[in-house]
Amino acid sequence: MESKNAPISPELLLKLRKALLSWFQKNKRDLPFRINKNAYRIWVSEIMLQQTRVAAMLPIYETFLERFPDPNSLKEASEDEVMKYWKGLGYYSRARNLKKGAGLLVEKFSGEFPKNYDDALSIPGVGSYTASAVLSIAYGKHHAVLDGNVKRVLSRLFLIEEDPLLNSTNQLLGNLAQEFLTPDSAGDHNEAMMELGALVCVPIPICESCPLIDHCEAKAAGKEREIPVSKSVDNWIDLDLHFLFLRSKNQILLLKYSGRRFFKTIYSLPFRLEGKHPYEKDSISEELFEESRLNTHPHRTKHSITNHRIQLKFSDILEEDRTRIEKILNKKQDVLFKWVREEDLKEEFPSSISGKLIKLKNKTIKQPELPVGKL
Ligand code: SF4
Repeated sequence: MESKNAPISPELLLKLRKALLSWFQKNKRDLPFRINKNAYRIWVSEIMLQQTRVAAMLPIYETFLERFPDPNSLKEASEDEVMKYWKGLGYYSRARNLKKGAGLLVEKFSGEFPKNYDDALSIPGVGSYTASAVLSIAYGKHHAVLDGNVKRVLSRLFLIEEDPLLNSTNQLLGNLAQEFLTPDSAGDHNEAMMELGALVCVPIPICESCPLIDHCEAKAAGKEREIPVSKSVDNWIDLDLHFLFLRSKNQILLLKYSGRRFFKTIYSLPFRLEGKHPYEKDSISEELFEESRLNTHPHRTKHSITNHRIQLKFSDILEEDRTRIEKILNKKQDVLFKWVREEDLKEEFPSSISGKLIKLKNKTIKQPELPVGKL
């Protein structure tokens, strides 16, 4: 194959596109968001898939679309209800953006996902990848997608050995993706590339099942497992997230406010960030977490949110004087609070973290064995 900076020869382009699309027709998975080419449904699926695997997303996708079958129903729903239907997917800002975007579709685009690329980019949460995916799959527009799977396939096919973190590498891959895109079948082509990256050209590639093997430069060079070069930057932030079961009259306190680091749009148990981290202290949680009354449960469990590696822990405090707490909260701007039954926690705090905290709480605390020996 020629240099990656030179145009790909027309003969080779034809062969590659034909092999890719015929493989896709035979091997594509029967996924519900492929049943029809409705732009709204494709948009929802693409947003859900941004940080969630297909198997985990599918049951939630179906229920979400049964309840919100079109932009108007999503726009009209309360944010709390949308968050409940999003439960299990995490990264709740995506749901908040979907709801805002649905409002924009109704108010500005006659209730439909726009057909123009720049209009698509004006929707909250829609970047170049999502705009290209929806426009090509729903409307057949000639925009190539470039997600992690597509980048891996292209890097191997055209032997791109540059650092994938560089903008110049991204630009190069974007140009190749656009050049490779099949005219008149942009949607199928994009889906085929993503599917190939998800099923065959996986991190340890299954080259013997690949329709492009005869033309793959990385395979020819014996470098298919080395490309793309692995990321060298470790940007994980380690955090302890300390939750509070603050109980009063058989109920527990939940809070919602946008000025905190996580769960800006849903009710959650009060929490504070502990450990070494780069974030400012949250004055509300500082007031609720009275050091002398904390009785931190000894067990921990792990969780991750974006680039945060989190240890979850909790304390459980009985508050006789509910009005004292309410006075503190009423003085704060933008803070919403409510008291709920503990058995409703999973419903009221729609995050997988609530389930983990309940499990943690139910763990039997083993008493240390007394040493046997002389008294
Ligand atoms: S031959 Fe192997 S490395 Fe090359 S594109 Fe196919 S699966 Fe990926």
